[in-house]
Order: sequence, then C-alpha cells, then structure tokens
Amino acid sequence: MKIAIIGFGAAAIGFIEKFKDTKNEIHIFEKSKDIYSSSISGIRADGKLFVSKEMGGELDIDIHLQKKLVDYYINHTSNHEIETGSSFTKIDFYKKFYEKGFLPIISDFSHLGTDQLKQVIYNIYKKFQSYNNLFFHFEHKINNIDFSNDKMSLNNTDIFDKVIVAVGRSGYKLVNNIIKKYPELILDNTKVDLGIRYEVPDHIVEELNKEMYEFKVKYKSKTGYMVRTFCNNPSGYVVTENYGDFVTINGHAKIKDKSKNTNFAILTTVKLTEPFNDPIGYGSHIAKLTNILAGKNKVILQTYSHFKNSKRTKDLYRVKPTLESKNFILGDINLAYPRRIIESIVDFIENLNEVIPGINNQDNLVYAPEIKFYSNRLNNNTFENLKFIGDCSGATRSIIYATAHGYLMAEKFI
Ligand SMILES: Cc1cc2nc3c(=O)[nH]c(=O)nc-3n(C[C@H](O)[C@H](O)[C@H](O)COP(=O)(O)OP(=O)(O)OC[C@H]3O[C@@H](n4cnc5c(N)ncnc54)[C@H](O)[C@@H]3O)c2cc1C
Repeated sequence: MKIAIIGFGAAAIGFIEKFKDTKNEIHIFEKSKDIYSSSISGIRADGKLFVSKEMGGELDIDIHLQKKLVDYYINHTSNHEIETGSSFTKIDFYKKFYEKGFLPIISDFSHLGTDQLKQVIYNIYKKFQSYNNLFFHFEHKINNIDFSNDKMSLNNTDIFDKVIVAVGRSGYKLVNNIIKKYPELILDNTKVDLGIRYEVPDHIVEELNKEMYEFKVKYKSKTGYMVRTFCNNPSGYVVTENYGDFVTINGHAKIKDKSKNTNFAILTTVKLTEPFNDPIGYGSHIAKLTNILAGKNKVILQTYSHFKNSKRTKDLYRVKPTLESKNFILGDINLAYPRRIIESIVDFIENLNEVIPGINNQDNLVYAPEIKFYSNRLNNNTFENLKFIGDCSGATRSIIYATAHGYLMAEKFI
C-alpha cells in the first residue's frame, strides 16, 4: 500500500513511529523548507508534555500510552535534561482552590523547553530517515486532495491508496478546501477561546511554580462562561505569534535563559449556537481589531487596574514586560474585546486573588489578543482512505494527544 502523510508534526510522528515497520511505502509531504525550518511542526515552542485525562483533547487516551509517548520524546533529547511537575496531585493545594470555587485540573508533565525541542525533532527525523520505506518531501505544500476510483491524488499529481492529513492548525487552508468539497466531514464547529496573557513577578506565584510548575484551573464565572488558565511559564517570556494577517500573543519558557516574571493565559471559552458557524472568523476579527488599535503586527499591553476600569494605560509601574517593546503599544483592550469576555476575566482574577494574594495587583500586566482556535471537529468515519489526525481533526490540542492520535490511527490500520 502507498500512503501519504501531509505534515510532519506531532501527529505524523506518532503515526510513523507505529507504522514504520510495516511493508507499506510512506511518503511524508511537509510544506517547510527543511527539518531545521522554524515553521516545521507545532512542536517548536516550550514543549510541556502532559499526562492527563482531563486536558489535551477530546479523545480518551490511555494513561500508559501517554506516559510511553512522553518517554519517547525525552529519549530523543541529548542528555535527558528536563523539568518535571505535578499539577494538583497534592490534596492541600487542591482543597485550597476548590474551596474558592475553582476546578483544579490534575496532570503530570515534563518540560523540555523551547531550546531543546529543535534537537528532539531533528533526532526523530534522523532515525526515520534510516528506514527505506519512508520518503520525506520537504517544500511540498499540499493544496488539494481529490478522489478518483478509490485512489487519492495530491495536488492533481501524486496518487496514493490512503491519505493521512496531519497538518495541525497551520494547515487550516487545506482542511478548509477539503471541507468545502465534503461538508459532511464536519461534526462540530462552534467554539473559540478568547482571552489575555497575564504577566506577574515570579514571587507572586513562587509557591505554585515550585510545587507544580503549571497550575491549571477552571472557573465558572458570574457571566456563565467557563474561564481557565493555560500554558503557565515560570521565569518565562511573552512573545507574539504571527498568523499572516493578524498577530496574537503567546508565552514560553526556556530551560536555561530565565526571566523574573511568570506568564500564563486566561481564556474564556465562547460556544455559540446556530446559525453561528464561523468561530475562526469571529476570533480572527477580534484579533484584527486589537491589531488595528495597536498598529501593524503589534499587540496591546495594559496594567490590570486599567484593564478592569477601562482606562488607557500610559505608563507602567513595577512589573517590567518580557515582550520586546517593539511588539506592543500601551492601550485599552476594552476597545477591542466584548464586555462579557472582559467581565469573565476580571471575575476570574478577582477570585483567584483569594487563593493567590497579589494576583490582582494593579500593575500586573495584561496582553491581548490571546486567542486559541479550535479546528472543526471532523468525522474520521466519513471516508475509508482519507483520515485526519492531530489538531487539524479538532480532536486534539497538545503534543501528547496529537502524537497518540497518530499512533492509534496507525494501530487501527495495522
Ligand atoms: C506557541 C505554541 C506553544 C505550544 N506549546 C505546547 C506545549 O507546551 N505543550 C503541548 O502539549 N502543546 C503545545 N502546543 C500545541 C502543540 O504544538 C500542538 O497541539 C501539536 O503540535 C499538534 O500536532 P499536529 O501534528 O496536529 O500539528 P503540528 O505539530 O502543527 O504539525 C503540522 C505540520 O504540518 C505542516 N503543514 C501544514 N499545512 C501543510 C500543507 N498544506 N502541506 C504540507 N505540510 C503542511 C506544518 O508545517 C507542520 O510541520 C503549542 C502550540 C503553539 C502554537
């Protein structure tokens, strides 16, 4: 059988790892220039590898498989130098948050760090290259897929028995092209996460950082929206993320180079009902509006008290931003964000202050737009020879879940 995998990210790695020893011919098409390219794979920033039943995607992935895949990535580092932690496995912390209305998320994780990830991807690729049934095609962007008599053609040229689409979120254009032709693939598309990136001095969250590195909690705010923390980066850095026609905010931490601040996202999940069917459009418009106010390729930075009281920030006080000054403008996020989102976030921070004193300090930093898109949830039972794995399928949102999705798909094929 001749199989095509489109994209070489976490999901493709899981699929190839399980499938490589079969007699099938596997061609991997990756749009990035080469394995060193900064655009290759979503696994290029931070690399927190979570083991949890409660987050990472909407699949039920066995904990043993999750642990096995974490070890797989760690075994591809050069010296196994990683940070580890457990979120809310200690009952005292769990109770402290629970008492104040938070839902603590239990997870174990290992942190590889942005600096080590490139090496890991390279080492995995090098190993795959030694197999003579695996063929890598870099600088090969796939724009469309067609069926003809049980065979699939990519970009109207190469013909395959089966095609695995593993393009992550960055491959949304290809997925949109396929969905336009086959709308029956869509199971669900109504969610988007809108929020901010919050930055505070390390000492405010020192105890939590030391205890669990990443604290993950959810909270049902007074607006009715569920709000959650995401991607905590002790001694980390805030960075911008370029989507082509708009820029959002993100954060990461390195293993060696540390800052004096901790940043994490505070996200509100917006789930709308019919006739709404364009969560990506909704989120992108809010991001673009924020960018219009901030200036090209910039985000808005505001102090927490100004964010709460809807005033433009003109200067900062004690907390120094880790985002480079060329990437932000001091402003008012209230001019771009819907009121219900802002109210939900403020309610979250005020209640969090009951557990973490100082988290609502007036001079803590708020960055926007922080937006997490959910891909359309796709139905993998629609076609026998066309499957979607990883984030582009809408079923996963993390490295381990995406890798596991690929791995389990290969297991099914075998
Ligand atoms: C800034 C950032 C930080 C993150 N940090 C973490 C973290 O710490 N822990 C965690 O668990 N998750 C994290 N994630 C999420 C994680 O990276 C993804 O969930 C995971 O990589 C998804 O794997 P995937 O294989 O589905 O997609 P990806 O890993 O994104 O791989 C998709 C590949 O497909 C290629 N591609 C796209 N379109 C095409 C096309 N048309 N033709 C050919 N090739 C194409 C891309 O170049 C890419 O190499 C982070 C994401 C981001 C953006």
